[in-house]
Amino acid sequence: MRLILLGPPGAGKGTQAKVLIDSYGIPQLSTGDILRSAIAAKTPMGLAAKEIMDRGDLVSDEIVNGIVSERLDQDDCKAGFVLDGFPRTIVQADALDRMVGGRGPLVVLDIVVPEDVLVRRLASRRICGECGINAAVDWLTVCGTCGGVLVARVDDGVEIVRERLGVYHRQTKPLVDYYKGRPTFRQIDGNLPPDIVTGAIDAALTEAAARGVHL
Ligand code: AMP
Repeated sequence: MRLILLGPPGAGKGTQAKVLIDSYGIPQLSTGDILRSAIAAKTPMGLAAKEIMDRGDLVSDEIVNGIVSERLDQDDCKAGFVLDGFPRTIVQADALDRMVGGRGPLVVLDIVVPEDVLVRRLASRRICGECGINAAVDWLTVCGTCGGVLVARVDDGVEIVRERLGVYHRQTKPLVDYYKGRPTFRQIDGNLPPDIVTGAIDAALTEAAARGVHL
């Protein structure tokens, strides 16, 4: 299964990707996570990306296309993958089509959530200050994986969120038109409890498989 989760920041792409990797045994490829790890490791790429990410802009297509292309070449992606946060521009979507050329169809799920709900969700979201992963709802003050202290994401502050939503509308939302003519495009109502959204995603994947999409 080659799956793209589209949707604005706070739509629940990361949360749903985590469920999909467990149920389908395929890796999650989150460009945001990869960039945050590069920042934590102070690599040249991380140092170059940090300022751009902190102000809510997009890192260059060239950098993220390189990250994804390298990652998709690894063995664990051969049987499929869930892309979370990529593509975010038409240039990236074109590059992705070239990267997976001949590797079967891409299922595209666009998770739709009203803007006021996104702003509220992002304001209360916490991540681990040590390993950078998103906090699960039942973690109170420390990370359930490494014990690190939970913190707010720098780019989840109200002003930066406004900027990120603007970037989403200008650069990423056009991808809905880019993909919606494909038989494997589905919209999912993301303004529901996470387990209901998971159910809708499972139903969309089952329906795509029934229509002959090789999952
Ligand atoms: P995310 O964790 O997906 O919200 O991504 C956090 C930040 O990483 C974004 O606001 C961008 O600055 C950067 N980023 C992640 N994915 C991409 C991408 N596909 N293209 C450009 N920048 C990205």
